[in-house]
Amino acid sequence: MASKRWIYKYLIDFIYPNRCPICGKFIRWDKLICDDCEKVLPLHNESLCEKCGKDKCLDHDQLYFDGIFTLMRYEDSGKEAIYRLKYDRELNFAEYSAEKLCEVLTDKKLDSKIDCITAVPMNKSKKLERGYNQAERLAHFVAVKLKKPENHKLICRTADTAEQHTLSADERKAYAERIFYPSGNHSDIKGKTLLLCDDVYTTGSTMNACSKILKESGAEKIYCIAIATTLLK
Ligand SMILES: [Zn+2]
Ligand SMILES: [Zn+2]
Repeated sequence: MASKRWIYKYLIDFIYPNRCPICGKFIRWDKLICDDCEKVLPLHNESLCEKCGKDKCLDHDQLYFDGIFTLMRYEDSGKEAIYRLKYDRELNFAEYSAEKLCEVLTDKKLDSKIDCITAVPMNKSKKLERGYNQAERLAHFVAVKLKKPENHKLICRTADTAEQHTLSADERKAYAERIFYPSGNHSDIKGKTLLLCDDVYTTGSTMNACSKILKESGAEKIYCIAIATTLLK
């Protein structure tokens, strides 16, 4: 089962010694993060709304997803780790986050309800330049852990160029609604419960625009996960 992957990890450690994805320190081959970095991650210490995932509710009537779960606040070492996952290919952090998010899904008894896992698509040229989509990698680790299929062809994205963090909340909403469109392949969508993954959850425009497409294509339920979220307080 998972043994092939573990053997690979054990062997690859001789050539590329395993490192902590945040501080870069050498760690044992079967670890994903060092203890010191794990201790200071800005994990949630308060319970957040299970529908909108925030500490101060967004307008639930506007949401197309049925629930959203995140692990930590998008600040300090959480922000640093996601930056390194995006730009330095620190995939240990995606795997670590996937394991923790799976624990949350199991705790909420949602793991068995999920039919298929997908991720927010990345702009094609960006993916080509970076070589991977970090949200897809997170989705992959979750799919392996939950033993569920993954499909990354459910939502399409136009060749957009804007850097979303430079936009206001209203601009982000309009932008997200413009750049995503349905793929036309709905066999994994109709009547299904989908898990949509992204690395960061901020205004919710992206997750919501993607969820809208999936719901309009026939999805029964959409749950979202992200590694980190911004909070309002
Ligand atoms: Zn570390
Ligand atoms: Zn809420």
